[in-house]
Amino acid sequence: MPFTGSLEEIQANIISGKSSCLSIVYSFLENIETHRNLNAFVAVYAEESIARAREIDNKFKSGKQGRLAGLVVGLKDLIAYENHELNASSKILSGYKSLYSATAVEKLLAEDAIIIGRQNCDEFGMGSANENSAHGITRNGLNPDRVAGGSSGGSAVAVQMGMCSVSLGTDTGGSVRQPAAFCGVIGLKPTYGRISRRGLVAYASSFDTIGIISNYLEDNEAVMEVIAGKDPLDSTSSNKAYTRLSKSTEAPLRFCYFKETIDSLGESQAKIYTNQFEQLSQAGHHVEAISFPLQDYLVPAYYLLTMAEASSNLSRYDGVRYGLREESAASYQELFGKSRSAGFGDEVKRRILLGTFVLSSGYYDAYVTKAQKVRKQIREATEKILQDYDFIISPTTPTPAFEIGKQRANPTEVYLEDIFTVHASLTGLPAISIPIKEKIDNLPLGIHVSTGEFMENRLYEAGKLIVELNS
Ligand code: GLN
Repeated sequence: MPFTGSLEEIQANIISGKSSCLSIVYSFLENIETHRNLNAFVAVYAEESIARAREIDNKFKSGKQGRLAGLVVGLKDLIAYENHELNASSKILSGYKSLYSATAVEKLLAEDAIIIGRQNCDEFGMGSANENSAHGITRNGLNPDRVAGGSSGGSAVAVQMGMCSVSLGTDTGGSVRQPAAFCGVIGLKPTYGRISRRGLVAYASSFDTIGIISNYLEDNEAVMEVIAGKDPLDSTSSNKAYTRLSKSTEAPLRFCYFKETIDSLGESQAKIYTNQFEQLSQAGHHVEAISFPLQDYLVPAYYLLTMAEASSNLSRYDGVRYGLREESAASYQELFGKSRSAGFGDEVKRRILLGTFVLSSGYYDAYVTKAQKVRKQIREATEKILQDYDFIISPTTPTPAFEIGKQRANPTEVYLEDIFTVHASLTGLPAISIPIKEKIDNLPLGIHVSTGEFMENRLYEAGKLIVELNS
C-alpha cells in the first residue's frame, strides 16, 4: 500500500511543517528493515540518504528545493550510480564500482531526489521472476511464496511495500511492467529513446529502456518530466521534449484489444479483462476487438533478437576489464573462458550460447535477418492500428504472480509469460501497466496500455481513467 502519500502530498506536508525529508527517509529505512526477508534491496545507503535528507530539508527552509525534493528513489542493480557498487545481479560484476552515474540518475539528483539504495533484479535483466539473481530470489510482498516478477522484481516490491516512493527499473521486454502487475503497482516503459540509456547496463541495446515504477501516476509523470530528453552521450536518445497534456482530451478515447489475446487467456482471466474493457465502454469510450495475426510471432522474434544482442553486449565481460577474474588461468583464452564460466549464471549462459549461434555466419540470415523482418512487419502493422485507435489494451500478464521455483525448470514457459509486454518492446512504443481491482488467488493483476511513439502523456491520461474506474 502507498506509504507516505504522493510527491505532491509529501512536499505540501514538508512545507507546512507536518513532515520532513528526514522523517520520511527514516520511515522508509525502517520499512526496508522490516521487509528484509523479501530481498528487495541489495544495498541500502542509510547514512548517505539521511545526510541528504538533512540537506534537502534545509533547502525547503530557504524555498530553494528542486522539483523532486522529498522523493525517495531506489535504483535497479543495472543502473549506474557513481562510486556505488553495480553488479547487474551477476557474479561477474561482483565488487565492481561504477565510475559515473547514469544520466537519468544525474537528473534525479539535480532535482533533489534522495537515492536510498540498490535493488535486486534478474542477472543482466534476463528473466521474468527475479529468480536468476546472484543476490538470490526476491519475494512478492503480498505472498512471499510467489515471485515478485522480473526482471525489476526488487524495484517493484520496494514500491509495493513502502520502501521507497519510486524505483527506476529497466524494461527490455516487460521488466518494469510485468513485476509492476505482479505487485499491484504502476510501471511505465517509455518510448525507445525517450530516456537516455547512458549508464544502463546493456542487455539488448535496440530494446533497452529505463522505466519508472510508482504507486501514483502523478509521481511517475513527475519523474518522467525530469529524466526524459536528449542526452548528447546517448546517440539514440530523442530530441523530443516531454510535455504534459495541457488539457484532457474531450472526445471519447478509442481503445482496441486483440481477439487473439482474449482467446489465449484462461476462463477467469478472460472474464476479468472483458469486464474491464466493458467498463471503459460504459464510461463512454470506444472499445473494439480487432485481429492481430502476428501475435504468435512476438515472443520468438523478441527472444531471438535479444539473445543475439546480448551475446554481443556481454562479450565485454572477459575477466580483464570488469569484476570477477579467475586468477588460475595460464593464458588469455583460459582467463576469458574461466572467468566467464564462473561469473555468469545459467540463464545468461543459455542466452549467450543461443545468441552466438544465431549470429554465426551460416545461420545469420535464417534467424536474425528473418526476425528483423518480422520485427519490421510487427511495427508497421501496429502503426496502422494506431491510425484508427488511440490505445491498444491487454492484460499485462497471462497469469498472476506464480509460485517461486515452479517455472524455473522450463525456460520456454517463462518466456511465454512475456507475450503481452514484448509487443511494445519490439515496436519501441511506450506502454504502462495499471493495477485493476480484480484479483486471482488474492494476487494483483494489471491492465496494459500502449500507444503511439512519444505519447507517454496520453498513457498517463488513459491510466488516470483506468485508476478511476478501478477505485
Ligand atoms: N522477461 C524478459 C526477458 O527475460 C524481459 C526482460 C527485461 O525486460 N529486461 O528478456
